[in-house]
Amino acid sequence: MAINKTHGGQNTGRRSLGLEPGESCECPVCRHGQMEPMVMMEAYACNFCRHIFDVNVAQQTVHVADSLQPMGWRWQGWHWQPLYQSRSNITLALWLVGLTLVILPAGIVALGGYLFPPLEAGRGLNWSLVWAVGTLVAHGTMVGWLIAEHHQFPLYVMTKIRLQRLLEYLPG
Ligand SMILES: [Zn+2]
Repeated sequence: MAINKTHGGQNTGRRSLGLEPGESCECPVCRHGQMEPMVMMEAYACNFCRHIFDVNVAQQTVHVADSLQPMGWRWQGWHWQPLYQSRSNITLALWLVGLTLVILPAGIVALGGYLFPPLEAGRGLNWSLVWAVGTLVAHGTMVGWLIAEHHQFPLYVMTKIRLQRLLEYLPG
């Protein structure tokens, strides 16, 4: 995989996706590693996140071959454009359910504390507030993780792999 500079015409400054042996190209999943041709296979693999890609040079697109989720990008001359961004209803549903899961329980806990304040108010911590914040943080973490898994944000993918590598090096 190579990004070739094309000279002349309207394409000046734009680079097209090519398949030159021995060259590599930024991985669209983690935006950190390089996509490299796999030995004996007509596929490409990232040297950092290890994802495997099918490349369509004619359409300037790549698809992740080792994921159940459809993930693909089109090379736009200077950056990768996701192919499945606008199409997915699941993304909207995930965000709606996610936001509900974050806001509703914490809201109920906070509302409960507001409507039924502790009888011995003024002493020590406001536990209903602590519970509300705790609920918000716990649910927010879960939903945030789900959304990051769904979207496979490059920063998230990179951090996840870094953590995995770190854990592999830890003794025990
Ligand atoms: Zn990668």
